[in-house]
Amino acid sequence: MADIPSVPPYPPELMRDVAKRRTFGIISHPDAGKTTLTEKLLLFGGAIQLAGTVKARKSARHATSDWMEVEKQRGISVTSSVMQFEYQGHTINLLDTPGHQDFSEDTYRVLTAVDAAVMVIDAAKGVEAQTIKLLEVCRLRNTPIITFVNKMDREVRETFDLLQEIEEVLKIDCAPITWPIGMGKTFRGVYHLLEDRVLRFTAGEEKRSEGELIKGIANAQLDELFPLEVGKLREDVDLIQGASTPFSLGDFLAGKQTPVFFGSGINNFGVQEILQALIDWAPPPQPRVAGTSGADTRLVQPSEAPFTGFVFKIQANMDPKHRDRIAFFRICSGRYTSGMKVKHVRAGRDMKLANALTFMANERVLMEDGVAGDIIGIHNHGQLHIGDTLTEGENLGFKGIPYFSPELFSAARLRDPLKSKQLQKGLQELGEEGAIQVFEQEGGNMLLGAVGQLQFEVVAQRLKDEYKVDAIFESADIHTARWLTFPDELTRRNFEREQSMRIGKDVDGNPVYLASSRYNLEVTMEKWPKVGFHATREHG
Ligand code: GDP
Repeated sequence: MADIPSVPPYPPELMRDVAKRRTFGIISHPDAGKTTLTEKLLLFGGAIQLAGTVKARKSARHATSDWMEVEKQRGISVTSSVMQFEYQGHTINLLDTPGHQDFSEDTYRVLTAVDAAVMVIDAAKGVEAQTIKLLEVCRLRNTPIITFVNKMDREVRETFDLLQEIEEVLKIDCAPITWPIGMGKTFRGVYHLLEDRVLRFTAGEEKRSEGELIKGIANAQLDELFPLEVGKLREDVDLIQGASTPFSLGDFLAGKQTPVFFGSGINNFGVQEILQALIDWAPPPQPRVAGTSGADTRLVQPSEAPFTGFVFKIQANMDPKHRDRIAFFRICSGRYTSGMKVKHVRAGRDMKLANALTFMANERVLMEDGVAGDIIGIHNHGQLHIGDTLTEGENLGFKGIPYFSPELFSAARLRDPLKSKQLQKGLQELGEEGAIQVFEQEGGNMLLGAVGQLQFEVVAQRLKDEYKVDAIFESADIHTARWLTFPDELTRRNFEREQSMRIGKDVDGNPVYLASSRYNLEVTMEKWPKVGFHATREHG
């Protein structure tokens, strides 16, 4: 369950503050309406004054988020950001994920830092490819999912069909909470199945509005207002109440069932219900598994007093004139206070945390107070890597922040061979940042691995702008990479001797097998049954 355990006794103020946090991300296929929904959620939360801010950022490529030339040229959001706002006494952290599929690796990591997700489905299109992939990632941690079926103001698919498709393709039970009345030009509103009321749809709402409520499905007012649609509504509701599984908070929290809402983001319709569901049903910050200094793991509870957390994303400074970077850090327990001293576990060093940032829409402000579930931005010059844990107490290492085996490879070659130091430095830093994966082969060759082609272009551009290095990327004859683990030193040495040409090291020095083909990988795995070949690696 989502409750915060009360034993052993945790600091009561901390428990109270943690219980008010909700940290979530929005997953969707590009164009389903994620940006629009984000904007409306912020509007409800009072984080932005006018509709259009997020949109403007997306289209006009605003300075704060679009520091990167590539991003400007392409008109896509390469980096993800964090937005914090207040709603009904709760502090909500919305972690934005890049929608472009080339950056799915980044998106995956952002999803390790949330406690819930809102899935946006385009009602005309149904379940699309990117949604399937993202939901799989959520499933790795059984993240609870709230579903928003968007664009009901358009000619869309039949509601029962849509739900069936979600259940079949995404393998998650649907519990409709609202039910649409009509669609497109005859979209009249939604019936709330749990509250037995109809919320009337009016197009083009600028700001929040309670809308007009009609109580009771048998209400004669409905017959007057929607004579053509009310019959179908009553039939549908009879059917659902007989056939579909009722909402179960336990199943939702276990990631087995998703409450489904219908609406139209652009018309600000159905958005408030999503916020309400986040507050009423989505879990507060959850305990996290961490490795301890022994071989054991334990659950770190969000209300434990010592401050802990992990880095899930690193972003180059939004101001390209400065080389420092911002590590996005999810607090898992304790409280952030400016000037506190923490231990950087991987490096075995102490560091002072001051001037951490929090993110209000597209503004960055200094963080004053943060607890589990909050995201802080920490300035650093490359000391912090993705997956790093910072703690105030015992040595811990949070688990579950993955690197995925890249699908595309290329070798970096310099136009000017005298710049090899800069190239190495640039690639090392961009690799640590997670912009791309970098493997160093014997003889100092730098090999790049990416999930999407666009990552190479971003890296080439950044090498030029930030490191003054003009590099050419040539395709490399590599099919896939596998992280290696060895049962003992002797096996390692023998393997490394035989396979030296096919071994590389990632930015953290871990050995990787670079297979030339699927067949090559299979043969090598067969020959070395005791060596572990892993398609993902956890950071840290
Ligand atoms: P994203 O790519 O998922 O972030 O999608 P956007 O929020 O940018 O929306 C994609 C397109 O769908 C835009 O042209 C939006 O104006 C439009 N859109 C978003 N929500 C709705 C909606 O509720 N109804 C209609 N008709 N269009 C919408």
